[in-house]
Amino acid sequence: MKVTEKQRLSLQRMIKKWKHRLFLGEWFVFAAYGEGDESESGAIATSSPNPTYMQCTITVYESFWRKYKADQEHIIVHELCHCITEPAYRAQIDLLNFKMVTNDHINEIRERTTQRIANIAFQQEWRK
Ligand SMILES: [Zn+2]
Repeated sequence: MKVTEKQRLSLQRMIKKWKHRLFLGEWFVFAAYGEGDESESGAIATSSPNPTYMQCTITVYESFWRKYKADQEHIIVHELCHCITEPAYRAQIDLLNFKMVTNDHINEIRERTTQRIANIAFQQEWRK
C-alpha cells in the first residue's frame, strides 16, 4: 500500500506532539512504513528504541491507517513509551543471556524509569 502525503504528515505530527509530552525531546524518532497489515509478530506498529544513542524507529503497518485517529494516536504514544521502558527490558534480556547485571544496575534503572514517569505525570494539565 502506498502511504499518502497526508498520512505521512499526520504521523509526523503525532510523533512530534507526544515526543515532547513524554519528555523525549532529545530523541531522534524516525517513522517507517511496513509492508502488509501487521508485523511478523502481529503488531499494528512496532518500535525499536536505542537508549544509548536516543534513536527510535517507529514502524506502522497498513492496518494502522484503518484505525480511528484517536486509536492511532494511542498506538503512537505506546510505541514512544517503549523509549522509556527499553533500559529495563534490555537489562532483563541481558540477565536471560547470562550477562553481568548487578542489583545496583537494576535499582538504578528502576529509579530512573520511575523518575521519568513521575516527571511526565507531574507536568500534565491536571496539575494546574
Ligand atoms: Zn509495545
